Amino acid sequence: MAEDSSARPVFDSDPADPLTDRVKVLRGAPEGTRDVRVRFRAGGGLLGRRTVRRDQADSALLTYVGGDEYKQEEVLTLAGVDEFFAEVRARAAEEDAVEAAKNACVHLRCRYCDVRAEYLGTRTWVVGEPTMTGTALRSLSEEAVTQHVYRCPRCGLLELFAEGFLRHPVPEA
Ligand SMILES: [Zn+2]
Repeated sequence: MAEDSSARPVFDSDPADPLTDRVKVLRGAPEGTRDVRVRFRAGGGLLGRRTVRRDQADSALLTYVGGDEYKQEEVLTLAGVDEFFAEVRARAAEEDAVEAAKNACVHLRCRYCDVRAEYLGTRTWVVGEPTMTGTALRSLSEEAVTQHVYRCPRCGLLELFAEGFLRHPVPEA
């Protein structure tokens, strides 16, 4: 498969860059963790360890934050942290493959005009059972539903996708 030009970064900075002193994992983090930060460290400083550039480091401190704000720390060697980075990349690549397979089912060509539909962004609808309270028409059990909207530039046909399934805009096939 060709490299997707819209591929999202996996890290906020290049973990192999010798001048990098910290790296944040943007996606592909281990299951159950919401946030992982890596700091390169060496001996010295008030607490015995300090954050340094990668090319001066002898270890790495990983801070994992779980969905419930539960925090856990782990110290790895440089070889160990490179293994961790490779695992993160592999997970992110797996997510990309799943996403690409889903996108491959979606054809955003207007069924009447056979031209590519334009992405208009998101719109939010409030849905619920209408009911009369006093003189006002109110809605019970209201729920905001966000939809991604596409429109045929020729005939105006609208297509809607609920939030939470695909990444939008879906790249052109
Ligand atoms: Zn059309």
